[in-house]
Amino acid sequence: MIWNEARECMSRDELMTLQEKRLVGMVKKVYHSVAYYRKKMQQKGIEPGDIRRIEDLDKLPFTTKEDLIQNNPFDIMAVAQSEIIRYHNSNGTTGTQITVGCTRSDIGAWAECVARCISMAELGRNDTIQIMFHYGLFTGLLEAYGGAERVGAAVVPMMMCNTRSLIDMMKELNVTGILCTPSYLLHIGQVIEELHEIENLKLKTAICETESWSLKMRRDIERRLGISTYDIYGLSELGGLGVACDCIYHNGLHVQEDFFVTEILEKDTDTAAKDGKKGELVFTTLHREGTPLIRYRTGDVTTVNREPCQCGRTYARIGPFDSKASDTIFIRGVSVFRFQLENMFDGLNMLHVRYLMRIYRVAKLDMIDVVVELDEPDKALFKEKEEMIKSKLVNAVRRTIGVVPKVYLVGMGVIPHTVDKNSVIVDERQYD
Ligand SMILES: [Zn+2]
Repeated sequence: MIWNEARECMSRDELMTLQEKRLVGMVKKVYHSVAYYRKKMQQKGIEPGDIRRIEDLDKLPFTTKEDLIQNNPFDIMAVAQSEIIRYHNSNGTTGTQITVGCTRSDIGAWAECVARCISMAELGRNDTIQIMFHYGLFTGLLEAYGGAERVGAAVVPMMMCNTRSLIDMMKELNVTGILCTPSYLLHIGQVIEELHEIENLKLKTAICETESWSLKMRRDIERRLGISTYDIYGLSELGGLGVACDCIYHNGLHVQEDFFVTEILEKDTDTAAKDGKKGELVFTTLHREGTPLIRYRTGDVTTVNREPCQCGRTYARIGPFDSKASDTIFIRGVSVFRFQLENMFDGLNMLHVRYLMRIYRVAKLDMIDVVVELDEPDKALFKEKEEMIKSKLVNAVRRTIGVVPKVYLVGMGVIPHTVDKNSVIVDERQYD
């Protein structure tokens, strides 16, 4: 099913014309209405008139997650506050929360993007879709509702809570589609197997937001549940879910190119990588009113393919994602940059302390341990500091990722020393 054939199947020439028109308008707009972008462009010695084609993109400055953290969110918004009807927050340590503003038009554009993704996954008005994201650090569920309702599906909003209740609801309402994280979907699959409920369900499709999941894990989920799975990509900073999704041919995720320009940049040179070559994924928003982003560095490492797809869509496809090379770590569906975790530890301002964060899986759920190396030879003082350190750490990790970690205090010499970092992050989850 193609939701918007006129757009999704337009020729690459038509698309290029549309992208250039929107890019020129966007650059003019941010230059004149956002002092932050104007200053950055002036520092590079460019004016809006210098940007006339997509090839001119590399003249523009980058925007990074750190830029969004360091600046007041209203300083990057391109409209008056009265035009904003919703704020989306992404995870960050205390004081480093990223907030983007959405206008009515932005919310409508997101519903359109997600409607296209849901249609790519062959779900539509005759389907009942259960949406199971946490309403917390991840705002993806809001776009998911908007998109599912736009295609006319019946939506069953349910948080990840009691898995048995979720399965009962699936049965009772004849749920055919699910949106959730892959790790939670696998957990649901195991419970359905244990309860021998598979025959009583009408489930046919699941759409999972891009977490690090391997083909093996995906096939395992498909086998257990007897369903097809689709991958959806989005970032809170870009507005949420729906930037890209894979179609029935599962050969990369189609980017909504009328809303975003995609660049893949070579690691060391920041120059455009050839199609098919790995590099950092960078997006420029073409339609965004609230918080437009110019050349936003996602930290994700992937490839792009601009060849036509068998499904008939002409939009470029991205993927697969290189989870090991990526700066982003996904923990229970929440994306967090490694530097955010490092900043979190540094922000605790504890002296003579080093940290090791271990991320692993138990029963397909992501878990976190933090090992703290404390340079305190006095046993009584060590004990005294222990509770205080544990409490600070539990609060900091919960605020940043939404997960309560186990914390262990150890003496010196346990954590491997790196050259200039106070913390080590080890992701032990196996994806293959
Ligand atoms: Zn396709």
